[in-house]
Amino acid sequence: MEFGGLPLAQEAKNTLAGAFDSGRFPHAVFLEGGTKSARKDLACLLASAAVCRREGEKFPCGVCSGCIKVRAGSHPDISVSGGGEGPALRVDEIRRIRQDASVKPNEAEHKVYLLLETQDMTDQAQNALLKILEEPPPGVLFVLTAPSVSQLLPTIRSRIQLFRMEEKTEEPEEEILHLAAQMAKAVCLPGESALLYAAAPLIRDKEKLRKILSLLLLLFRDGCTLRAGGNVCLSGLPEEAGELSGKLTRSRLLRLLETVEKAQKELEGNANGALMVTCLCARMREAAGR
Ligand SMILES: [Zn+2]
Repeated sequence: MEFGGLPLAQEAKNTLAGAFDSGRFPHAVFLEGGTKSARKDLACLLASAAVCRREGEKFPCGVCSGCIKVRAGSHPDISVSGGGEGPALRVDEIRRIRQDASVKPNEAEHKVYLLLETQDMTDQAQNALLKILEEPPPGVLFVLTAPSVSQLLPTIRSRIQLFRMEEKTEEPEEEILHLAAQMAKAVCLPGESALLYAAAPLIRDKEKLRKILSLLLLLFRDGCTLRAGGNVCLSGLPEEAGELSGKLTRSRLLRLLETVEKAQKELEGNANGALMVTCLCARMREAAGR
């Protein structure tokens, strides 16, 4: 099996290649880490490998009718849900998958369900998925993706084979910069609603929260540096850093730093997202003396 330039450790490639080349692949594979598009590319590659009619040396061949239909998104035995492309991964969609998976494939030997970006699945949807994974229909492959497997229930984690994609260091995305800027402005304002509103997108997205916390840490450090007469800006948000250093004392900025560091530790400990974000906002306002 060939993986092209996909960022996957050699060991993971060997394991997947061994399983797919022999046709004895796992019932459920989980791809974490990397970027959203890299996870999706690998998920599609595994789907191709499961339905490839293998013409030639390369596998998946990329040229047979199976591979071409996967690329065109029209293979009848491959279903895509989540990731902003297919139907959202709600409990009704999982139930549909459960029914559909019990029906034999149309043209390939296998059926594949791609469940993309599963981090927003409710517990109810995950429990419905668990029922399928407990008794997987023969010949069916589930490929799940998310930034981190930690967002799944442990009962599901025990029934999937996990593969971690390699991280590429990314520039902070436009959206992350914007969210951090909004939060930095809101932390200096009176009243709690502006900060809660700015932080709302983080409640159901721990990956985003993780990125925001790293950026806030840099931003509050920048604020401290500016207050101390320095001019280095590591956060990429010079205007906001200037505003923070103008409005908050050094000790307030240091307390904000500590608050963010504490939140980073809690995030590693798999805390509840909504509760964490609410607490973070309250603590940040307290630290800022607002
Ligand atoms: Zn093929």
